Amino acid sequence: MLAFKQILAVALTGLACAACGIDTETKTETERPSVNDAPVIHDKALVLDSHIDLELDLIADDMDPWSSGESRANIQKMQAGGMDGAFLIVFSPQGEDTPAGIATASQVAETRFDAISRLTEKHAGEIELALTAADARRIHTSGKRIALIGVENAFPFGHSTADVETWAARGVRYVGITHVGHNQFADSSNPSYSRGEKDALHGGLSPLGEELVTTLNEAGIIVDVSHASKAASLQAMERSKVPVIASHSGVTGVSNNLRNLDDEQLLALKNNGGVIHIVAYGPYLKDKTPEQMAFETKIRKEMGLEDDFAFMAMNAETEDAFDKKMAPAKALSTPANVNDLINHIDYVVATIGIDHVGIASDFDGGGRIEGWMDASETLNVTKALIARGYSEDDIKKIWSGNLLRVLENVQAYANP
Ligand SMILES: [Zn+2]
Repeated sequence: MLAFKQILAVALTGLACAACGIDTETKTETERPSVNDAPVIHDKALVLDSHIDLELDLIADDMDPWSSGESRANIQKMQAGGMDGAFLIVFSPQGEDTPAGIATASQVAETRFDAISRLTEKHAGEIELALTAADARRIHTSGKRIALIGVENAFPFGHSTADVETWAARGVRYVGITHVGHNQFADSSNPSYSRGEKDALHGGLSPLGEELVTTLNEAGIIVDVSHASKAASLQAMERSKVPVIASHSGVTGVSNNLRNLDDEQLLALKNNGGVIHIVAYGPYLKDKTPEQMAFETKIRKEMGLEDDFAFMAMNAETEDAFDKKMAPAKALSTPANVNDLINHIDYVVATIGIDHVGIASDFDGGGRIEGWMDASETLNVTKALIARGYSEDDIKKIWSGNLLRVLENVQAYANP
């Protein structure tokens, strides 16, 4: 399988990236390091995780998000695992599109933003907010951890793009347009069927969503297409004057999930000069086995949920009951592990090249896989990349070179 991918990669090598002027290369053929070199290579690379969440119940009023010790990422775990920095996420769940729903989401966003501020203030000697790629590199050299800020779900912005400037000034450097459920800006890859949503509300981006992409470009904020529908992501890539990212997704070429990007999206991403960050979240990395699918069919029949629409529209209570009944299915397959993550990276590299892939843990937002259960185990990812034949230069691109290149491009466009 890998041999086939490598042949495909060779065939695709040399297709220039229209938007960014870089020639796409696949894995470097020279200097294959050994796994024994992993600690040294890991230490030299700027290891940047593109997506770490902050759990609301771990953010008490005066606490920083990491002081409880329960988070999968904190400064000590990052130091132990050689993780140099991360995009910390201001996430708001999708609510009803009413003034009250938007006000609630806005409050949640403020809570998370305040927690990041407390974190960087309280531990100013150990972690620092980066506003540019140059900041990130300087902070890395200083030995401190790097904090960058991303927004997941633009819903709290309301029916206007006026807040974008404010969030840019507060340090936000990427914005994910949607989450689960359509919003005023775009369709989601996961409609909220329990709210009665159909597959598409806008057919991709709404007119306000188009305005959002332009406004983010002008503000020097990266557009993030993770969670957006396929149509919305393609339209965002088409409209954006600068590269976009998928901050935490997988690829359908390895695991067929609605949240993942297919080959058409990957090729659009390559033309756009963007980067997909493969997410360490099992359900997006690994397909269910036939045994697991048969088990699910049995449970759905038992619960009267055979009809797909009934299944997708079940309420929270039924979903809870379904999840409980489905628990034994986990034992029917081995859990996703670091090798599954690397399978997606290999696929992206073979399809669109080494310049378009990165990594996201999604810690404290559901992310965890065998071998990378928290930030202290981050070296295992570099070891697995080396075992798969990636060079030191490849690894540096994957861990941050590609993402920081996009950030530089986006900021240069906004501040010529
Ligand atoms: Zn997410």
